[in-house]
Amino acid sequence: MEVTSTAPVTARVPAKVNLELRVGPLEDDGFHSLSTVFHAVDIHDEVSVRAADQWSVTTTGVGEDLVPDDDTNLALRAARLLATRVGTDDCLAIEVVKRIPVAGGMAGGSADAAAALVAVDAFWATGFSPRELQDMAARLGSDVPFALEGGTALGSGRGEHLVPVLTRGTFNWVFALHHEGLSTPAVYAECDRLRGNRAVPEPAPNAALMAALRAGDVDALAANLYNDLQDAACTLMPRLTETMTTGLASGALGAIVSGSGPTVAFLCADRTSALDLMVTLSASNICDEVVSASGPVHGAHLMHDLRRR
Ligand code: ATP
Repeated sequence: MEVTSTAPVTARVPAKVNLELRVGPLEDDGFHSLSTVFHAVDIHDEVSVRAADQWSVTTTGVGEDLVPDDDTNLALRAARLLATRVGTDDCLAIEVVKRIPVAGGMAGGSADAAAALVAVDAFWATGFSPRELQDMAARLGSDVPFALEGGTALGSGRGEHLVPVLTRGTFNWVFALHHEGLSTPAVYAECDRLRGNRAVPEPAPNAALMAALRAGDVDALAANLYNDLQDAACTLMPRLTETMTTGLASGALGAIVSGSGPTVAFLCADRTSALDLMVTLSASNICDEVVSASGPVHGAHLMHDLRRR
């Protein structure tokens, strides 16, 4: 293989929030079919790769102690998958700078996998098509394809089958973070437990949410935020209900648990309201950290190279 780059290559990748997450019945293989609307927001991780004598991954930044540095690291898995596809024995050192909360329901690990695919693809100038990268992404995890795409997209299957969703304008968000993580499998199990024997319909998107996004109607979007995992996450961590109540009483138009939690996302009328809410939530001590962000934004991309997207 011809190595076309020796300088490190860095890719940047956004976090996601699910504007809608509808969870179907538990299937025989232990998974659930989903209908979900992903939305990428401008909280970014960065993944850099450079040539090395052996494979390694190191992480610095938010939650660095919680991120594995062995073969279970999703950025490393992505890079090695790409190396296998290229057919090279060359190794890479991977550095991750984390700003996306770990185990926060914002798909940080999947994001790092997507960024690693983009960075390694550029580093080795593989020439893989976007479709081939998407197929590799889907093999790595059901949230990885969206992290490559970004924007706002409807996901079905396990979330890996994506269709872009038309949106107008920018939405302003405040995220209330809780350092105590929530395990995604535990939240799904709690959702199943709460449902008991109740019949669960096949998940389908809500037309009113799509219309709100198309129109850029922030009030209608706030009214249609929906997450089937929210009750389960709040049962496992009752503090989340209190966080949502406080944010809604302090000017947020809408509130939703992000993915399987424990991050709570608040939708605000504009940037000024978002900053006001950030100050109020920070002073309330109801959560461990508060960050503001806006979306939609581009998916994984090389630093200084948004023209390719
Ligand atoms: P999910 O996609 O299940 O919603 P999440 O957003 O809640 O995930 P992640 O930040 O993706 O949470 O982390 C989930 C777990 O994945 C972590 O506890 C961590 O052990 C593992 N993990 C593996 N690789 C990474 C990575 N590069 N960054 C963060 N976590 C990773």
